[in-house]
Amino acid sequence: MLTDNQVLEIREAGKTLSLRQLADRYGVSHIAIRNILIGRRLTKAERTHLRFWAKVQTGFVHECWIWHGATSSDGYGQFRLDGRLIGAHCAVLNLTGVSTTNKIVRHTCDVPLCVNPNHLRLGTVLDNINDRGVRGRTAVGERNGRSKLTLKQVRAIRRIKKPVSILAQQYDVDPKTIRNILTQKTWRDE
Ligand SMILES: [Zn+2]
Repeated sequence: MLTDNQVLEIREAGKTLSLRQLADRYGVSHIAIRNILIGRRLTKAERTHLRFWAKVQTGFVHECWIWHGATSSDGYGQFRLDGRLIGAHCAVLNLTGVSTTNKIVRHTCDVPLCVNPNHLRLGTVLDNINDRGVRGRTAVGERNGRSKLTLKQVRAIRRIKKPVSILAQQYDVDPKTIRNILTQKTWRDE
């Protein structure tokens, strides 16, 4: 079975490589390759969607969907959309038809690399300032100096399938902290 991404690669490589070369490279028959090459061309929007989601580890609705593509120096994902490099968390909304022009996209989960639309809120610059005041923290998790865990550790915790008690011991934090990381949103309010 070829993945969507492989199909895209084959369409691209088909401009320069022969059917046989492609068949060998992907371990499928040259008929399969031909079918891909003569098949319906993907629209630009479809290609953009595939390109975006290939860089995301998605999960359940309540979980953070972590961006694995390029990142900016301030810890947010970066994605090129219509020739402009924008935050991946903005791009995901744009891809669903939501305009983020003159808006701030905020993470309710405080995980800068998260692109789960359910964890994103559109707001104005003023909202953002008020929000920081009320919650007493900055938009970027690792930086407020109160977090015990780094974003890297949070990602590792989400990835490793181990019991909560073991993870709590391993990272020397309260089991409640681990549970919060695994089940929600915020990981810094401990
Ligand atoms: Zn999230």
